Amino acid sequence: MEEEFAVPLCIALGNSKVGRVWTFSLPSFVTCPGASTWCRQHCYAWRFERLRSNCRRAYIRNLALSLEPERFVAHVLKSLPEDASLVRIHVGGDYYSPEYSAAWLEICQARSNTQFWSYTRSWSVATLRLGLEQLRALPNLALFASLDSEMPQPPEGWRLAFIENDPRASGVPCLHQQGQVESCLECGYCFRERAGNVVFTIH
Ligand code: SF4
Repeated sequence: MEEEFAVPLCIALGNSKVGRVWTFSLPSFVTCPGASTWCRQHCYAWRFERLRSNCRRAYIRNLALSLEPERFVAHVLKSLPEDASLVRIHVGGDYYSPEYSAAWLEICQARSNTQFWSYTRSWSVATLRLGLEQLRALPNLALFASLDSEMPQPPEGWRLAFIENDPRASGVPCLHQQGQVESCLECGYCFRERAGNVVFTIH
């Protein structure tokens, strides 16, 4: 008999910015061990969660399930349609433990025909780096190191997601923020290209 999950997973079709792609989120702050003070002060995900308490509750349920990695992997694979072509991991939240990033490694490997993409500040936490390097090596996951001017020099070889006021910023200005595309789906720069940085304006 198929196992019944007591906790429903929230994996949803995205908003107007990302376009109709599948998204998965966790509650912000508590799952963001690499967040700088600047990031916490400007967190758009936190503002969104405060406005939408039902979303925050859903993200908390996602977090609860993710604490049991085996069940989490099974549940994501069950919830995500087989023909899902694009998944944005963490509109809110981040990779908070080695076990959690290992769960996403398993999910991405099981869905080799799905393209995943994600931004993380957890690269700045030494104990999480190895798991993130394994994720970054996957052919179907575009993983960026997010940073702002308070953060140290990012690891070599990563694609970087800058904030525009960082003196180190270089790369393509986000085309959605420039008003050049309707959504990430239309743009595709972050997940169709294999190289190149992106620069975001302050939300
Ligand atoms: S550069 Fe393109 S794909 Fe990347 S976040 Fe902006 S709109 Fe989305």
